[in-house]
Amino acid sequence: MKYVQIDTQSDPLSTSQPTTIKQKNLSQLLVSELKAMGVEDAHLDEWGYVYATIPSNSEKQVPVICFCSHVDTAPDASGTGIKPLLHKNYSGEDITLPDDEKIIISKKDFPYLEKIQGHDIITASGNTLLGSDDKAGIAEIMDAANYIMQYPEIKHGTIKILFTPDEEVGKGTAKLDMQKLGADFGYTMDGGEAGSLEDETFSADGVQIIVHGVITHPGAGKGKLVNALKIGAEILASLPANKLSPETTEGREGFIHPVRLDGIAEKCTIEFLIRDFDTAQLATKETLLKTIAENTLDNYTGATMEFKATEQYRNMKEILDQHPQVVEYAKEAIQRAGFSEIKMESIRGGTDGSKLSFMGLPCPNLFTGMHAIHSKKEFVSVQDMNKAVETIVHLVQIWEERSGASGTTSIP
Ligand SMILES: [Zn+2]
Repeated sequence: MKYVQIDTQSDPLSTSQPTTIKQKNLSQLLVSELKAMGVEDAHLDEWGYVYATIPSNSEKQVPVICFCSHVDTAPDASGTGIKPLLHKNYSGEDITLPDDEKIIISKKDFPYLEKIQGHDIITASGNTLLGSDDKAGIAEIMDAANYIMQYPEIKHGTIKILFTPDEEVGKGTAKLDMQKLGADFGYTMDGGEAGSLEDETFSADGVQIIVHGVITHPGAGKGKLVNALKIGAEILASLPANKLSPETTEGREGFIHPVRLDGIAEKCTIEFLIRDFDTAQLATKETLLKTIAENTLDNYTGATMEFKATEQYRNMKEILDQHPQVVEYAKEAIQRAGFSEIKMESIRGGTDGSKLSFMGLPCPNLFTGMHAIHSKKEFVSVQDMNKAVETIVHLVQIWEERSGASGTTSIP
């Protein structure tokens, strides 16, 4: 509740790093709190990253494990003047937020509320988001660090703590120093419902189609002028109507999604997001899109087209499958925290975890307990957050238990 009151909203239009300097206000506080716990090397760098190390207390050679969360909050709703409210022993009734009575957190919209009757629930007050994304993750890592520092009987290898800026604007790993971090495997604490674990993201490409028309004075255009805007519109109108779009897909289905149309009669540019869990299917979707565009152009003599596909990010499962113990140990930790069933989730988007995985730090995403993120209806249960802390504490112990005594690790 203290962390969310510090405004750390990032800015998608800013070119500085971090995108907003105010993010460092929280990062600085985290450094001083870590130091107060005895985590001596905790520090904030000029780019807004907090690095800290809890040294190993094990005789064994244990892989270095990193826990990571982001300090920034999403630009989707105000992050200024957040007033967190603690609803103790939640009754199960709809929650009307006091600063805007039109904002009602109801079981109709969030059936999960049924499951957390009797919990202590934190919400915002109606004018702002709460910022549990990702300050829930931060609080959980801080609490776990505090616990591990206080109870040396918890055996663990070297633990790295990483707090990043600018995740919400896609720059969370822009200035991250992997060498300095020096971790073998990682876990982002940035997932949702208690007991869930995300090991899969979309693979993503961007496609740009540039259509070149043929331009003349419109007064003398008969039989000569070819309007690029009309071709662009026709390409969009030729996309499949009932499939392959974000508005017609869910679960494991991918899509082709036009996000920007720009142009003049002479030249028209269209940008697309191409998404699929199966990386090979990106090429299939791109071929389909290219064929639609080429077929459209066939009807316009003199018009030409450029088609450019760019890699954006890849499904982190491709990396995680090469290191199955990372997800296996996480599942076991969640079970030890009391969840008989683990909700395996596939993220229909990207995360810092997918970037980190491809930067050399295999990194699934663990639950934090946050719900309705990026909105004024955001909420999180304190008891669920405690389960996330327990999961971290179990996880560091599992890595230690499974490590060999003689300087080798017994990786299945
Ligand atoms: Zn997040």
